[in-house]
Amino acid sequence: IVEVEHVFKSFGSTRVLEDVSFSVNPGSVVAIIGRSGSGKSTALRCIDRLEIVDSGRIRVGEHEVTSPGLNLHQLRRDVGIVFQSYNLFPHLTVEENIMLAPRLVQKTSRDAARQNAAKVLAQVGLAEKATCYPSQLSGGQQQRVAIARSLAMAPQLMLFDEVTSALDPQLTGEVLRVMEGLAQDGMTMILVTHEMAFARKVADEVIFMHQGRVWERGPAAMLDAPTTPELRDFIGNGL
Ligand code: ATP
Ligand code: MG
Repeated sequence: IVEVEHVFKSFGSTRVLEDVSFSVNPGSVVAIIGRSGSGKSTALRCIDRLEIVDSGRIRVGEHEVTSPGLNLHQLRRDVGIVFQSYNLFPHLTVEENIMLAPRLVQKTSRDAARQNAAKVLAQVGLAEKATCYPSQLSGGQQQRVAIARSLAMAPQLMLFDEVTSALDPQLTGEVLRVMEGLAQDGMTMILVTHEMAFARKVADEVIFMHQGRVWERGPAAMLDAPTTPELRDFIGNGL
């Protein structure tokens, strides 16, 4: 469903992505790991066209992301992205936050949008929080609402960029469980994560980025037998 081919990206004179290629099969989970500054977020952002590549090709389903003819609205509808910060609207309730995009973008009726919100809230284990405001929720609950908000658009692909790094270990666990559930339900996902145990358990494939390149990639088992000194070092020293 996703194909990234020979992507290069620089910010000014800083080369951030250098000949990055990988693909993601439907229903699979790809974890991107690597040191700070290795280009993980940039790679993810290029897929959702939050950054524009200098050269190379990216395709997501039928969307030619790197072509000038791209329909950006349709791409954003089909790709959900969740960041470390949840960016919920504080003056709207949980269900209103979730209903917003379907109402505005898909012109869904209020009743249908509310039913859908209830469905995705149940999926992230927050059915009873529909009428709460974000400030009444824990960080982990707010992050699960952010995930539910993306799910409400019925995306074909979900991108997660270190969604648990602002959370303490207990709250991290509940968010990871939601993501694991999505994986089991067959959602195609690309996740940037520092949670090695989670990557090992949930990812079908792991991509280790180093200095803007795909340095090593393979099934999650490669984390137990790294072939490059850089990956060995990364795993050995943690972050
Ligand atoms: P982290 O683990 O810290 O999130 P990362 O692997 O996600 O790191 P990126 O955010 O992709 O790394 O950044 C890669 C490099 O690109 C860094 O050197 C960063 O300073 C640079 N960079 C990222 N975004 C921009 C930008 N908008 N303008 C200039 N430089 C940028
Ligand atoms: Mg990042």
